[in-house]
Amino acid sequence: MAPLRDFPVNEFIDAIAVPCCYVATDGSVSLWNQAAERLLGWTQRDVLQHPLPIVHQLAQTLEGWSTQLLHRPYSTTVMTPFLHKDGTTVYATAYIQACSIEKQNGYLLAFLPKGFGPLMSNEQFNFLHHFQEMIKQSTHYLATNDKGEIIDVNAIFCRLFDVTDQQLLGRNWFELLDPSQENRMIENEVSVALATDKIWNGEVPVACSKHTDKPCWLNLTVVPILSDSGEVIQYTAFGFDVTEKKRLEQEVNDLAYRNDLTGLLNKKGFLHQYEDFFNQFDQQDRYLHVALLDIDRFKIINESFGSRIGNELLVQIKDRAVKLLPESTVFFHPSGGLFGLLFTEESKEEVFQLLRQLQHELQRPFRVYHHSIMVSLSIGCVYYPSATTSLDDLYTRAESALFKGKQIGVGTIQFVTKDMDAAFSRQIHIEKALYKALEEKHFYLEYQPKYNVKTDQLIGFEALLRWHHAELGQIPPAEFIPLAEEMALIVPINNWVILEAAKQLKQWQSQFNQPLSMAINISPNQFRSESFLNTLRNIKQQLMLDPSDLILEITENLVMQQTDEIIERMNQIKRLNYRLSIDDFGTGYSSLQYLKSFPVDELKVDKVFLDDWMTSKSHLLDVIIHLGKGLNLHVVAEGVEDEAMLEHLKTTDCDAFQGFLFAKPSSPAQIEQLLHSKKTPDA
Ligand code: C2E
Ligand code: CA
Ligand code: CA
Repeated sequence: MAPLRDFPVNEFIDAIAVPCCYVATDGSVSLWNQAAERLLGWTQRDVLQHPLPIVHQLAQTLEGWSTQLLHRPYSTTVMTPFLHKDGTTVYATAYIQACSIEKQNGYLLAFLPKGFGPLMSNEQFNFLHHFQEMIKQSTHYLATNDKGEIIDVNAIFCRLFDVTDQQLLGRNWFELLDPSQENRMIENEVSVALATDKIWNGEVPVACSKHTDKPCWLNLTVVPILSDSGEVIQYTAFGFDVTEKKRLEQEVNDLAYRNDLTGLLNKKGFLHQYEDFFNQFDQQDRYLHVALLDIDRFKIINESFGSRIGNELLVQIKDRAVKLLPESTVFFHPSGGLFGLLFTEESKEEVFQLLRQLQHELQRPFRVYHHSIMVSLSIGCVYYPSATTSLDDLYTRAESALFKGKQIGVGTIQFVTKDMDAAFSRQIHIEKALYKALEEKHFYLEYQPKYNVKTDQLIGFEALLRWHHAELGQIPPAEFIPLAEEMALIVPINNWVILEAAKQLKQWQSQFNQPLSMAINISPNQFRSESFLNTLRNIKQQLMLDPSDLILEITENLVMQQTDEIIERMNQIKRLNYRLSIDDFGTGYSSLQYLKSFPVDELKVDKVFLDDWMTSKSHLLDVIIHLGKGLNLHVVAEGVEDEAMLEHLKTTDCDAFQGFLFAKPSSPAQIEQLLHSKKTPDA
């Protein structure tokens, strides 16, 4: 080990607010101050004359320190995790100084945790200053005045920029940072920390001369030094070079966070990198905009020209866009033909102009190999501050705006309007609440009676899902079911529905001793899910129900996909003896001809055909009923609201009906009343 300096420390160490300790070369602790106890939980009694408990392998650590200290004489800084007495981890920068106290050789350690709070008096800070003097000789060191102008800098730091200290003195230290968007976030973060007189530690990229195209990275600790009256006199910063570590991290991140074709951040990378920026964004008088740019029909371009040309086109689009965009714009590439933009400085009008211009530029022909290709672009854009609370949410809204625009036509620029924003907020609110609704039993079922057309006799029910939310009130199934479907929550929800409705039917059958059926709506995802058949088998076994009393309603569009798996699934269900019904019949794209090949039992004719008959007396309704009967299916008319409608149905072969005319969806208690009285209630 290098020759040690004698350091007048013991009488001072107890009084100071900086957590400090002294470890002898044999590993035992001989000084441990109150601040260290506060930071790390261990008391003097725990540590004095014992090995330092805060590092995991002391012997190795000491050896590591010795080697480092040999390498950079006398002192060093390390940012490492330390062990708190309660078992948690404390991240702090340790300043380690080799020195001897009362002829004993060892190391003095001062810990500066991230966001270190207590203010230090000038006097106390002299200690650290003294300490720093020595550390200055081994690490990158810089001091600034309260305005951030450099007032002192060491040779190691100067070497990084290949300049003399005279060239750095007087400059603002932020100028040394690499001028990227990312760095402005760091600048902001440091300012916030320092404004509250906290010590800041983090990694910053500096525009050094060594690597011209890439910044080098310093792990920097910035300490505000206060006067006795509490004002900042100076900032002292120490750093060590972590460029190599950063480069490795970058390589790993690039794999996950970048689009490998264009090298731009992908969605994950964008959200990861700009989350902090978003969270710290100062909302006053400023807006953030996120826009998504979609190349219309990119898939078709890719398929018809091949992916080599498709890829080259994307690269050219990127290059052309980059030339046009202001430097402050973040340009990213979520996937395929979709690009993204984050505008941080422009006003709404400016953003709109930029998007228009960009759209215009990118719609000029591209020369890709020997082809001339023209694309059209649709753009969805959203701004913040708005009802949004996260960057992820902002992105989702831009996506929704894009889709909304595309519904109007390709080549649109759709901004999120106030109404849309409110609708999204409600949607997000509902999505969040949906997760809890099942667990907290906020769902319940209503049952709508179904009648025989000829005899008006009650033959069964359709179970309809209901959700009452404490704040939002009653939420209609047409609103939350599509969301649950998207969120893959529909399967557990609907499994609950099947079981609940089946139990209810079983109870009513035995209580009223009457043949009754129960229709249950099955969502497409549930129908396809792995667990569906098992659910059906379990119900059959557990409830000892005749499965043919349960009618599973599936939608016409699902059936019409007619893939082998769907037909096989229907056959499996039929083998279990459940009945299958096609709901909303006539609204999809089915051809009656295919119906022949499906193992279904029932058709539910959609209300639109009844309405059509009511308004224009069209024959369409009769034709559908007739065709259904021709295929030997049980035919049910939905949404009978009117006496005349029912009278008409009686003249057809229609088997059954449901509708407000006889009964609205009702609670189990109301149904029981109805079954008791055995008469049809009023709507
Ligand atoms: P659906 O399966 O077509 O259900 C019939 C809808 O028509 C019900 O609306 C019912 O209240 C309504 N209705 C019945 N008779 C009349 C009438 O005479 N006039 C009018 N105007 N409406 C009538 P609801 O309960 O709001 O359900 C809407 C849709 O939500 C259902 O359409 C169904 O697709 C879905 N749904 C409801 N419960 C479930 C469920 O448990 N699972 C799944 N996957 N979907 C469900
Ligand atoms: Ca239905
Ligand atoms: Ca229906």
